[in-house]
Amino acid sequence: MTTKKPRGRHFFANPGPTNIPDSILRALDRPTIDFHDPDFREVYDACFDGVKRVLRTEHRLFMYTGSGHGAWEASLTNLFSPGDTILIVESGYFSDEWAKMAKALKLEVRAVAADWRHGVDIAAVKAALTEDTAHVIKAVCVVHNETATGMFIPLPEVRAAIDAAKHPALFLVDTISSLGSLDFRMDEWKIDGVVGGSQKGLMLPTGMSFTAVSPKAMEVHQNATLGRYYFDWTQMLGRNPQSFVGTIPVNIFYGLKEALRLLEEEGLPEVYARHARLGEAVRRCVKVWAGNNGPQLFCTNPGRYSDSVTAVVMPEGHDADEMRNTARQRFNVSLGGGLGKLKGSVFRIGHLGDLNEPMVLGTLGSVEMALRINGVPYGKGGVEAAMDYLAS
Ligand code: PLP
Repeated sequence: MTTKKPRGRHFFANPGPTNIPDSILRALDRPTIDFHDPDFREVYDACFDGVKRVLRTEHRLFMYTGSGHGAWEASLTNLFSPGDTILIVESGYFSDEWAKMAKALKLEVRAVAADWRHGVDIAAVKAALTEDTAHVIKAVCVVHNETATGMFIPLPEVRAAIDAAKHPALFLVDTISSLGSLDFRMDEWKIDGVVGGSQKGLMLPTGMSFTAVSPKAMEVHQNATLGRYYFDWTQMLGRNPQSFVGTIPVNIFYGLKEALRLLEEEGLPEVYARHARLGEAVRRCVKVWAGNNGPQLFCTNPGRYSDSVTAVVMPEGHDADEMRNTARQRFNVSLGGGLGKLKGSVFRIGHLGDLNEPMVLGTLGSVEMALRINGVPYGKGGVEAAMDYLAS
């Protein structure tokens, strides 16, 4: 049986992967080229320089064919030895997953526990480090923007906590759903290891990820004994070109060059301001929906609202996935679902990457219709509130 596809373009409002701009699609559409070809090397080198500019770093960058999980694994296997202890700052589903991976790799994981709706208390990070007088903790790992909950963690405050505790731990940050969407400064914030991926703020297909590494972390790497091969930084440094073990995914580099051109043409501060404006419009809408015992912002801490994704809690007795199915089937709109323990109770609106006002309003209008069709209570006027804000 064939099912009829809805008309119009598929409307993609997930928090990653994200929409790929047409000019990036065109750039990816290239015949194969030898990755040793000098023409390709030019593109490759330009991409490395460009990603470093977005990361605001002068440090080393290693790229992998693999999704964000690959870069997570690289960050752990290159820096630690079996039995080493790391401190993971809980933010939600993705910090839990990073911790699970670390345990599977035979690391000891301590967590700074946090309420997923309110966010971690940075004083608790400082306390955990201050207590560790023997300096057992080798690294503090933070997910900059928790894609599952729609909250970010203020990295300069974490840096200040590490410094205040006078702790030598490395500072490792996952920027998978913040890079190219939220302000990020690797060197200024003294971050030792960054994990990033292609499919969110960089507006590319999934499949390339990377780590940037400070000189301090490169030194730690020399003594790290966890097993690794494809992700081994030492091995990568010996390759020509440096930084890929195995075949280089050439087409994605053509896309990346165009993505960097788009980000820099707009200007990074302007990119961040656009995300802030669109994120605020979504939140204003959801706050109005909440009025009639309707869906609410999952994040209860206004100081931590994420400008790249908003998680929304359904009212008791209403299933988020049913509403998402309606949005997909009736309006061809794809929304993010709740992850892990939030499945069914939360849906997520992605507002990162290649996005503008009509795309946000189209998504919000479709969600409102899907709520109505499913008999979910909500306060009327949410989309109006978003328009008021965007037009002001
Ligand atoms: N970290 C964060 C914050 C994410 O949002 C994701 C995926 O959405 C990951 C890690 C895992 O990345 P991937 O799914 O590309 O392996």
